[in-house]
Amino acid sequence: LPSTAPLRGRAEIDLAALRANVRTLRAHAPGAAVMAVVKSEAYGHGALPCARAAVEAGAGWLGTATPEEALALRGAEGIPADVRIMCWLWTPGGPWREAVEADIDVSVSGMWALREAIEAARQAGRPARVQLKADTGLGRNGCQPGADWAELVEAAAGAEAEGLVRVTGLWSHFACADEPGHPSVALQLGLFREMVSYAEGEGVSPEVRHIANSPATLTLPEAHFDLVRTGIALYGISPSPEIGTPADFGLRPVMTLSASLALVKQVPAGHGVSYGHRYTTPGETTLGLVPLGYADGIPRHASGTGPVLIGGKWRTVAGRIAMDQFVVDLGGDEPPAGAEAVLFGPGDRGEPTAEDWAQAAGTIAYEIVTRIGTRVPRVYV
Ligand code: PLP
Repeated sequence: LPSTAPLRGRAEIDLAALRANVRTLRAHAPGAAVMAVVKSEAYGHGALPCARAAVEAGAGWLGTATPEEALALRGAEGIPADVRIMCWLWTPGGPWREAVEADIDVSVSGMWALREAIEAARQAGRPARVQLKADTGLGRNGCQPGADWAELVEAAAGAEAEGLVRVTGLWSHFACADEPGHPSVALQLGLFREMVSYAEGEGVSPEVRHIANSPATLTLPEAHFDLVRTGIALYGISPSPEIGTPADFGLRPVMTLSASLALVKQVPAGHGVSYGHRYTTPGETTLGLVPLGYADGIPRHASGTGPVLIGGKWRTVAGRIAMDQFVVDLGGDEPPAGAEAVLFGPGDRGEPTAEDWAQAAGTIAYEIVTRIGTRVPRVYV
């Protein structure tokens, strides 16, 4: 599709920006391999095109949550067989045999997952690539330090000696790397080093040790180890306004979300707008209809606050965002039929950014881009 196609709404995905972001991230972590985290349709940007672009720009690893996401990448056109693919959300009864057969690295946080990996390896007739995940303080997935870690390491080393698994990685995940100076960061790093040393002392020799997500990649060189797992930064979005803007780190936002106005009409003063009449026109004015709604991922919490660029001016969502459409008060301007409304983009044409929408909706920019729905076509440029 040409980028000017008059669509109800479209998310333009700038793959050149994504490639540049990968190169920038490689420069931030020169001693480490880069894993492009492409779970959840590459945070809403489209898994396969983004995975291909990331690999072209030098990402040696792809990361997903589910094994299904990982399997969809393995063997896909443009993803060379030597690109490593890792998935980390172990769930019982998943397609683990297929994952082993497809040379996918699977994360293991406890004994029950290890047993299932071993069973999958037996069925597949080849060793399972497992990465042991330590809970160094996130308090979510991962094996507890101490006796649990000792048991898991011993069992994994034993299975490796039998040729049933290959322990390819030791890894963990930060809770607060996006909060500069948060005391948990140093504690997690210290515990990660201890848990890695313990496992290595028990004979485990991983190819990669890793703990860094985007904020740690950008701000904590001591956390880079052998590999950095970058998600949000790949898409040109800062992990948190607290640590800086994308431009501060040389990153460029990849997604631009826009729509064509579907209706422009004059209304009198005192006109209630959208469900619940949460907005009433203060005077005679022009209303513009943006044909995107919460079914498309436009957060309803941004009713009355979300910014939109129309005709060179920022306008605000008037009243409630509905399932398929919302209204802006154009303050008397009369843009031509089909005029462009830009919800967010890199910001250099004066448009709002995904961070602006996150602020308007009381959420994080991760959620803004990831939730853009399947009714919105992705247009790759
Ligand atoms: N590693 C793991 C285990 C994750 O779940 C995620 C995403 O949530 C990432 C890395 C990437 O995080 P970020 O998008 O902050 O780079």
